[in-house]
Amino acid sequence: MAKQAKQPKKRKPQIDPAGLRGPEWEWADELSLTTGGLPGSGDDLWKGITEHIERPAKSVPVVHDVDVVVVGGGVAGTIAAIAAARHGAATLVVDEFSSLGGNMGVGLWAGGSVHLSLSDPNAFPNGIGGIPGEFAERAIHGENRMLGQNAYFRDAQAVKTVAIEMLEAAGGQVFLNGVFSDVLLEGGAVVGLFVETKSGTMAIRSKVVIDCTGTADVADRAGAPVIVRPTHPSAGVFFAVANVEYGVYEQALTDRGDLSDDDKAWAKDHEGARPYMPWARQAWEADEFYIIDVVGNFATLEISMKPPTRTHPGMQRGRTRVNGNWNPGDALALSRINQRMHPYIYHFVEFLRHRVPGYQNANLHIVSPFTHSRGGKCIEAEYTVTGDDVTNDARFDDVVYKFWGPSPAGCDIPYRAMIPKKIDGLMAAGRSAMNRGPQFRSRYSCQLMGQAAGVAAAMAVKHGVQPRAVDVKELQRALHTLGANMGPEERLKELGLL
Ligand SMILES: Cc1cc2nc3c(=O)[nH]c(=O)nc-3n(C[C@H](O)[C@H](O)[C@H](O)COP(=O)(O)OP(=O)(O)OC[C@H]3O[C@@H](n4cnc5c(N)ncnc54)[C@H](O)[C@@H]3O)c2cc1C
Repeated sequence: MAKQAKQPKKRKPQIDPAGLRGPEWEWADELSLTTGGLPGSGDDLWKGITEHIERPAKSVPVVHDVDVVVVGGGVAGTIAAIAAARHGAATLVVDEFSSLGGNMGVGLWAGGSVHLSLSDPNAFPNGIGGIPGEFAERAIHGENRMLGQNAYFRDAQAVKTVAIEMLEAAGGQVFLNGVFSDVLLEGGAVVGLFVETKSGTMAIRSKVVIDCTGTADVADRAGAPVIVRPTHPSAGVFFAVANVEYGVYEQALTDRGDLSDDDKAWAKDHEGARPYMPWARQAWEADEFYIIDVVGNFATLEISMKPPTRTHPGMQRGRTRVNGNWNPGDALALSRINQRMHPYIYHFVEFLRHRVPGYQNANLHIVSPFTHSRGGKCIEAEYTVTGDDVTNDARFDDVVYKFWGPSPAGCDIPYRAMIPKKIDGLMAAGRSAMNRGPQFRSRYSCQLMGQAAGVAAAMAVKHGVQPRAVDVKELQRALHTLGANMGPEERLKELGLL
């Protein structure tokens, strides 16, 4: 066994693992922010902060004056920007990272998602279509990489490249390494925004802003009402371990045989430990590595590993799960979580090397710098699609795409779901628009939402109207021409699209 580096002694996590993950909210319309097992909340970090100061006014350079600004060049934002640019709007995407793609790019969650859109024949008999379909085809580059082949790393790089190239080809611009910080408001409408950069604060003027930050940051800063949802089920960071001899590990599991009842009970309470029993328990009891780590008193970190990838022999991908009472839009909580996250992943791999057969020569290959989540803030939209709408295959006259959940017929997603209450000059797409269950935030859904938002924003600019006043029929016709699925032939006739 490899010799493990000496680690500083840590306090054994004092938690009630049974209540760790909180209530399942995938399908819930009303949510509780309470997660059991943890005494505190991310909000506690703010309690000691009592001093506020006035920020001195200063003039900042206006570095862009465009029709449409997309804030957040992730899953939804990339498609929104390409759509807006292709429909004639001078478009700029702002992203805090140095590349586009968000969850599918720097987040490394690409494989599966790229083909997810192509591999459900019930939902997409002819592929997802439209700009998302073109994006997926270009990213997989004609290769038959089906969902489950785990081409995450390869596809994440393709996603970053395809995103930039499709945007450039459409005439769009990017502003990378720029962190959106505030909005410029005039008479209740967003007319621009501020971005923090290495050269200081910069301003951008715009006619329409599409909030694709994943946590409705723009809407929130603009004073639009937002809804905060818990992170459950699981925020996390993606990583990969190389040089794994998985066959050796599997043989060791066979040799190990059944776990004792005591070990089984222990593994039940320490979910990520299950594939590494009894070694995870031994390490825990020797104070070597705690498979559940604790952040302050409000969050816990766990590990979830997938089988080795077929595309990268000897490489296994994994992810962390961040459970607890915190809001992914909370900068203080996020910083504290990330402070623990990277040492936790590093020491997890040390534990594997030291204790688990098959991992002696393994090493931590890559860790995404992006802690992303499924919850957080999203807009209070003009219409909020509910779990009942999905169950009942709801039909809306302002449908812009169809969401396929459990029902084969699918539920209409209305244009109003992307329009925030109260504030003009603003739309939202992706998780910033809908982060609630059931899974509206799936990547294909975010991409289709992005497409609709981008086309609508370009139309609003062209006709000099606010996004909420866009002619929905004109929008639907444009989306239909693009190949967006808004229902079967009969329904399209009803909508006046055939
Ligand atoms: C761990 C995990 C696993 C998932 N697994 C799946 C799955 O298997 N299948 C599936 O369909 N979906 C899955 N999802 C859901 C899906 O990936 C997300 O809902 C989707 O990525 C949301 O897209 P988005 O465009 O709203 O946000 P993102 O893709 O996260 O993009 C947001 C972008 O905004 C940028 N940004 C944020 N704030 C600022 C700022 N202030 N200034 C500048 N830029 C900013 C970020 O850098 C990022 O690029 C998963 C999500 C998570 C967290």
